[in-house]
Parts: sequence; structure tokens; C-alpha cells
Amino acid sequence: MQLDPRSITVMTALMAAVLGAVLLGVRRNYPPTIRGLLLWALAPMTCALAAGVYSLQGLLPEIAVAQTGNALLLAGCGLFYFGSQRFFGQRVTWRLWGAVALLSLAVLTWFLVWPDYRVRMVVFTGTMTACVLAHARLILRDGRGFAARLIGATLLLQALVLVARGAATFWVDGTQSSRFAMTTVQTAYIASYCFSVLLLSVGVLLMASERVREEFELLATRDALTGALTRRAVLQAGGEEFDRWRRYGQPLSLLLLDIDHFKLVNDRHGHQAGDRVLAGAVAVMREQLRATDRLGRYGGEEFVILLPSTDAEAAHASAERVRAALATHVPEPGIPPCTASLGVACAQAGDVSVDALLARADAALYRAKANGRDRVE
Ligand code: GH3
Ligand code: MG
Ligand code: MG
Repeated sequence: MQLDPRSITVMTALMAAVLGAVLLGVRRNYPPTIRGLLLWALAPMTCALAAGVYSLQGLLPEIAVAQTGNALLLAGCGLFYFGSQRFFGQRVTWRLWGAVALLSLAVLTWFLVWPDYRVRMVVFTGTMTACVLAHARLILRDGRGFAARLIGATLLLQALVLVARGAATFWVDGTQSSRFAMTTVQTAYIASYCFSVLLLSVGVLLMASERVREEFELLATRDALTGALTRRAVLQAGGEEFDRWRRYGQPLSLLLLDIDHFKLVNDRHGHQAGDRVLAGAVAVMREQLRATDRLGRYGGEEFVILLPSTDAEAAHASAERVRAALATHVPEPGIPPCTASLGVACAQAGDVSVDALLARADAALYRAKANGRDRVE
């Protein structure tokens, strides 16, 4: 099968323009916390312009077609990379790559005036390869999940094709070779470029969607005021830990914590100060817990702490640490420390769900309140 490189190029231009428009539309609907979408949208559009300019070969002077097309293609390649830099919250290195592109274009101009297609091919594919590899390095280092792997693989493949095309020039091209020569190597090069624009655009779209999903998931599972897990999220985690306890028999403990006389904080210092005290208390609790422990807001000024792989003795020690830390923490100048009462419960034979632990922890918490508060039962 021999595909006509010029037709492929025109098709690429149309397709890339549509992909750019789709990315622009997506950008309007996504939260502004998803960075880089504008640059990612401009990337395929710039590649589309480049392909459009190249397809004018023969209709305009070659130096105009070649240099405008090359400049646009380098810009498109850079824009994909810059979009990713912005997406991952990194500094956009447009100055460095702008200088590299300008230098490359100057050399290309030289070899258009004193024509040598082979030197131009090596310089151009070399510059593109450097940009593509820098992009691949960023994605493979900072990206996670299917989308990042898709983009990373596409970029590596693109780099491979670029290197192969640059090297092949010594065998297949002459000094006066043409861009749309019907050689298999040239057709494969142009077709693979077309596919990489498609795959990169789809890849960045997927990566942005994954980020949006993660952000929504975080919003749904985190209490807005304190950053602790929501009641639903911590109870779900409790259910999962309980299943694990039943299957593997590792100990499981649970703490229920209620801040003492919290109503007084609101009455004396105002509801907003009360909010800040609650958020501060969560930060203090977290400092006393392990990375595997889970802290959730059960409601109001009441919290649940899940302690996986923790027996009664260790759970009691954890509870004591949290209690002592809260009892000595001054929330803000003028507000005395807020003590808390805690109930400890451990999974034991006969428990059928995490609710059994919650009920025992609640009863223990009630005793802690009745026995004078600021204590663990
Ligand atoms: P006890 O020692 O018996 O637990 O006394 P308490 O005052 O802490 O208990 P109570 O349950 O009567 O009061 C809880 C208070 O916590 C009442 C409520 O206004 C306050 N509260 C619950 N959620 C919030 C919140 O998100 N922000 C603020 N500022 N206050 C809250
Ligand atoms: Mg209370
Ligand atoms: Mg309460």
C-alpha cells in the first residue's frame, strides 16, 4: 500500500485542528485547578497549521513553506511539552526551548539557501527528538496511570521514529530530496507523526480527566472544614478494615473522640473561632497517628480514628497520646487548650460488623465523660 504523503498531511491538519478545538471546549468545562489545558489545546492546532503550510509545497516558495512549517511544528511539539510542565505545576521552560528552536531554524535556513536536504533532516529531527525526549522524561517521572503511560509510550515511539528518519536520510535522500517524496520511509515518518498528534491529544485529554476525577474524589471523601475523612468515607474504610480483620485476624482497634465542653468555645469565642479550633485539633490528632491510621469526622466535634493492626494495649497508648497532645495544645492566643474524652474498642470474637466496635467505643466514651472528661476509657 502506498499512501500519498500530501493527503496524509492534509488529513492530519484537519484532525489536529478538531482535536485542538475539543481540548479548548474541555478547558471551558473543567475546573481552573486543571492547569496546562490551553497550551495542550494550542499544540495540535499549531501542528495543524504546520501540516497545512507543508501541504502548500509547490504553491509557495520553498523557503517560505519549509521555514514556516518547521517553525510551527517545533512550536507544536514545544506546546505539548509546556502544557505538561504546567499540568504538573512546573516552571515552563519556554525561553530555553525557544532559543533551541531559533538556533535550529537558523541552521535550517542556511541549508535552504545552500540546499542540503540531508543536513536539514538531521538538524530538524534532532531538535524534535530532544524536545520529545524531554517531554517523555517529565511524563514518565511525574505521571501516573494509563493516560501517562499512553503519552510516555507515544513520545518514546515518536522519538524512535524521528531518530530512524534522521539516520535513514543518509541512505534514502539526496541533497535535493523532496518532502513529499513517495518513499516508504517518508510515508511512514509522516503517518507516524499523524498518529502521534492523535495519541498525544487523546492522552492529555485522559490525563486531565483523571485529574478531575481525583479532585472530585478528594472533595467527596474529605471534610471541608478539617480535612479529616467524611463520616461516610471513614465508615467505609472501617468496613474494609473489619473485613480484613475477619479474613486475616490482624488486630483492629477504633477510637471515638469527643471534644470536651466545646459548646463553651463557641459561646465564649464565637463560632468562627470554634471552626478554627476544630481544624487545629484535627492537625494535632494527626501528628500523633501513624500513616496507616485513618481519622474521620463522625459529626460535629466528634471523631473516629481507625487503628489497623493495633491491639488493645497499643490502641490505648495511641488514645493517651492524642489526649495528652490535645490537653497541652493552645489553639490560639486567648483560647485555652480543649481537652477531649476518648473511648477505645477492639474487634473481638462475635463481632459481625464495624458497628459493634462503634457501639462499644461509644459506651466507653460515655464512661469517659461520666468519669470526669479528659480521659481514655
Ligand atoms: P461535652 O463535653 O459533653 O461533649 O460538651 P460539648 O459542649 O462538647 O457537647 P455538645 O454536644 O453539647 O456540644 C457540641 C457543640 O459543638 C455544639 C455545636 O455547636 C458545636 N459544633 C459542632 N460542629 C461544629 C462546627 O463545625 N463548628 C463549630 N464552631 N462548632 C460546632
Ligand atoms: Mg463535646
Ligand atoms: Mg459531641
